[in-house]
Amino acid sequence: CGIVGYVGRRDGGAGVSVADHSALDVVLEGLRRLEYRGYDSAGVAVISDAGIESRKKSGKLSNLLDELEADPLPESLTGIGHTRWATHGGPTDLNAHPHLADDDQLAVIHNGIIENFAELRASLLAKGYTLRSETDTEVAAVLLGDVYRSLVAKDPATATLAKAMQLACQRLEGAFTLLAIHKDQPDVVVAARRNSPLVVGLGEGENFLGSDVSGFIDFTRRAVELEQDQIVTITPDSYEITDFHGNAAQGTEFKVDWDA
Ligand code: GLU
Repeated sequence: CGIVGYVGRRDGGAGVSVADHSALDVVLEGLRRLEYRGYDSAGVAVISDAGIESRKKSGKLSNLLDELEADPLPESLTGIGHTRWATHGGPTDLNAHPHLADDDQLAVIHNGIIENFAELRASLLAKGYTLRSETDTEVAAVLLGDVYRSLVAKDPATATLAKAMQLACQRLEGAFTLLAIHKDQPDVVVAARRNSPLVVGLGEGENFLGSDVSGFIDFTRRAVELEQDQIVTITPDSYEITDFHGNAAQGTEFKVDWDA
């Protein structure tokens, strides 16, 4: 239902401003702003030196905050956050997003519905994967992990999460905004959209993603809206847009001029 993503720079170098935010703070602030949309669960994932870690809870954002206090996440400059409005699988902790895949090195959040999830689920189960939740989202996460693994097997030098997202999206039907982070690319968040909104927020030495601009309005007013069937890769210093086949696309920047 609500989606936020963040990546900030680890070390700035001379004359370059360095993001002074923690990924978790930014993501939680964004989720707070997106609460107005309604939701039944909330969750976050970050990348640290140890890999991907995630916390998720059904109920209000305050349940997630309690969980984070009891079991804190490591400091991180890359993170994603989600508030869920359940469509496939009840509003439980287990069905809440993020969903992990690729041996828990990959975390995915999702707004919308993957219409062909049943047939994808069957083919992933036949391949030997186990699924932990009842959601359509976990199917997309496991598919993305599977596609990424085959790219790495083919050529580790050219395999990227963005390329894997393109190939996975070619197989997904329905409505989705997807965000993914992978331990192999700790300074990257990859996102895709079809029939569901996605906006990039542009900062200095940090970049943002939101299902709408409220996800990052406290941090920047420079934004780029993604078009239908596009993928964006954000790093602390760049954003790159393609279609689902890897063709580069140009984003149009706009200024958010409403008062938050
Ligand atoms: N279909 C997904 C689920 O039920 C995502 C729902 C949403 O947009 O929050 O988990």
